[in-house]
Amino acid sequence: MNCAEATSYYFKRAAKIMEIGDRIETLLNTPLREVKVQLALELESGEVRTFVGYRIQHNNSRGPMKGGLRFHPSVTHEEMLGLASLMTWKSAVVNLPFGGSQGGIAVEPTQLSHKELERLTRKYVDQVHEIIGPMRDIPAPDVNTNPQVMAWVMDQYSKYHGHSPASVTGKPLDLYGSRGREAAAGRGLQIITREVVRELGWNLSGLRVAVQGFGNVGSHATRLLYEDGAQVVAVSDVQGGLINPEGIDVVALFEHVKRQGSVVGFEGAHAVRHEDVLGVDCDLLLPCALSGAITASNQASIRAKLIIEGANGPIDPEADEALLQRGVIIVPDILANAGGVTVSYFEWVQNNQQLSWDDERVSSELERTMKEAFTKVAALSRGRDVPLRTAAYILAIGRVGKATVLRGV
Ligand code: NAD
Repeated sequence: MNCAEATSYYFKRAAKIMEIGDRIETLLNTPLREVKVQLALELESGEVRTFVGYRIQHNNSRGPMKGGLRFHPSVTHEEMLGLASLMTWKSAVVNLPFGGSQGGIAVEPTQLSHKELERLTRKYVDQVHEIIGPMRDIPAPDVNTNPQVMAWVMDQYSKYHGHSPASVTGKPLDLYGSRGREAAAGRGLQIITREVVRELGWNLSGLRVAVQGFGNVGSHATRLLYEDGAQVVAVSDVQGGLINPEGIDVVALFEHVKRQGSVVGFEGAHAVRHEDVLGVDCDLLLPCALSGAITASNQASIRAKLIIEGANGPIDPEADEALLQRGVIIVPDILANAGGVTVSYFEWVQNNQQLSWDDERVSSELERTMKEAFTKVAALSRGRDVPLRTAAYILAIGRVGKATVLRGV
């Protein structure tokens, strides 16, 4: 199942329990707008190449659409569609006044120079600037995009529409970014982990954690859980994995990654293939890389008792079903990694009001938002006797459905 099919499957499973009917189901499951663009770029070598870009806008019933901008060779129409709809449900789970969208360019950014990447980003904005904007659709960082890319997006958008800091989030702090945005998704995972661990009667101190993906989400979550006393037994990135059943020295690992750009080569753990990290003996697994990481073919190797989804769509529905039957607790992406979009919302609010919040305000508002969403989802899960993922979709579909009906078809 691709990402769009998987999200649609989870949506329909919850919609069926809610008995919302075919009419509303079709309305909520159909994207509002799908844009595909061709980006021609003259490389420094003189070669001309074209890249395909997308912006898929799923639903705007609750407000302007919000979604990531991804630069990766695996970017396809189906993946963007799945992630756009996921964003609608995620924004609704944490009760933000946003709908959902997603964009991306099918490109391996490491093969482009800094200047080429900047020109490609600006060309993308040239093609989509009329359909994005502070009150329409607000991009944010995702796989292989960062505050610098967001700064280029803001600058290019502003050339068409005038000074528009709120047109994109995840910007650098020196250019209308928000405190706490960089670590927000990882911090959200930490808050959710603390809540789940408390509810299960476990102890975070000594909890054995394995993390797939050591980028923005995975590295911050690893550091924060390590600071909480968890024992990080395995980590991976696209180049390879590390295992140490005695626990990895995460501070030393960060120094290593800063120097080498990868977890590979770190001496305080055994080197393994990145896929081996998923099956490591641990209490908590955090998949924080790409979608479709855990499928029917590798789910049997998973030994974690708890999986908290840092990535979007890391578990496909067949694997989800099998893991649930084995008693594994899964905290879904639309709740677990919503810290990113939540602080993006705070950034958008600050930009619109032309003021800036301090660390304490961002941190406490994020904690309140995440805890409130977790409490609601956990109560729905208990009340309806459904897994957390279905409960989260029920909460989101209820909110988006109500807004859609109130606005009128
Ligand atoms: P990133 O580009 O910063 O990091 C991705 C990491 O995954 C890198 O370390 C990369 O090496 C690793 N990786 C890629 N393929 C791998 C593989 N096969 N095995 C192991 N590691 C692999 O991206 P990110 O922003 O951290 O996003 C990661 C996931 O989290 C995505 O699914 C994204 O949509 C989701 N997400 C991101 C945010 C955010 O604010 N950045 C918020 C919510 C969700």
